[in-house]
Amino acid sequence: MRKLYFILLAAAGFSVQAQQAPQIKRACATDRVMANFFAKNPQAKAQEADLRDFLINNDYKAQKKKAVVTIPVVVHVLYKTAQQNISDAQILSQITALNEDFRKQNADFSTVVPAAFQPNAADLELAFCMATKDPNGNPTTGIERKSVPQNFVLGNSYYTSSGFAAWDPTKYLNIWVGYFDGVDSNGDPWDGTLGFAYLPNAAGLSFDGLVIGCFNMGTVGSLWVGYDKGRTATHEIGHYFGLNHIWGNTGVCGTTGGSDGCADTPATNGPYYEQDNPVFPDNQYTCTTTANGAMFMNYMDYVADYQMAMFTNDQKTITSNTMIGPRASLLNSNACSLLSVNETEKVEAINIFPNPTTQYISIASPLTKINEVEIFSSEGRLVKKAFIKNETDKIDVKDFATGVYYVRTYNGKDFVKSMKFIKK
Ligand SMILES: [Zn+2]
Repeated sequence: MRKLYFILLAAAGFSVQAQQAPQIKRACATDRVMANFFAKNPQAKAQEADLRDFLINNDYKAQKKKAVVTIPVVVHVLYKTAQQNISDAQILSQITALNEDFRKQNADFSTVVPAAFQPNAADLELAFCMATKDPNGNPTTGIERKSVPQNFVLGNSYYTSSGFAAWDPTKYLNIWVGYFDGVDSNGDPWDGTLGFAYLPNAAGLSFDGLVIGCFNMGTVGSLWVGYDKGRTATHEIGHYFGLNHIWGNTGVCGTTGGSDGCADTPATNGPYYEQDNPVFPDNQYTCTTTANGAMFMNYMDYVADYQMAMFTNDQKTITSNTMIGPRASLLNSNACSLLSVNETEKVEAINIFPNPTTQYISIASPLTKINEVEIFSSEGRLVKKAFIKNETDKIDVKDFATGVYYVRTYNGKDFVKSMKFIKK
């Protein structure tokens, strides 16, 4: 009977292979996951405007010292079937794809990106490596695997007891890989979600990182047609470094939150899908009709993998500010390479963000331990003393009067660096 069933399916032209997904329309659950995160974390919501302002407007070029930063990656494979237990080669092919896409070395760049948009394209100067040391300092391939009794229930089981806990998210980019199925954490049916990521607002929290479906991860192995160039991870890591979708959070033209904060990605009122068959120049979803139309070939849109091939210079501003600010601790990770820095570099790497601010400041000190902070008013009066444990700790300044403040940072009794910030 079973055999007959297979034969009938084959005769009807259906494939019986698991990787033949339902008709895929790219969906990314990041906006939904972040909405849930903000609903549960009102303080993070209150701090969101300061951080977004910093990511978009800070001039990273004055502060960025290292050209290319290499990010250590750990991949947690959670599988229910043997086919979902993707190979090491498939995972490594994803790392290769990331290193091409984030360095603007992808071979399809000049064929997919129209000449008119090519000057906007940026090398994000981010590279990726599989972790070679685990959090205890022991050798590792950067890959761990576990058989799980059920497929992912979106957003709530990949890092819980049935999955794998994150490796220190301030030192590793955590990627969980598995098969999305069933219903999501809101009880909604699976909608074709290919992945999601946490934005830098969740930097360092226990679930920080991204989740990718096993049939759209990497460029070799059993992959879904159209989603086989590793661009789901490229897109999700874009979010991880602070990028929003091209259409912003609302997708409504001309409203607050309707933009991605990038002047060089023309505003649209929603995503472009593979099924839209966009051809340059396309104005189907642009807020304003222009000669070049929409930048639907940007990694932060929703087209299929073979239709996307670029990040922009304004997107690079956001990802670079993320590495100066909320994800600066990744600079301090030696999980896949030996770190060699001199004292000057260590002090130069220390930075206050967001700046200016209304709610809080953090001290990004990736290469030096800072555990004490003194804040002085412009008249030289000590107004606050704070002890910090982690790079991601936030110092509350929301009750400060507006003005300029000076910050002195210490490692134990040793003074390290003086900086200033503006309270709005
Ligand atoms: Zn997305």
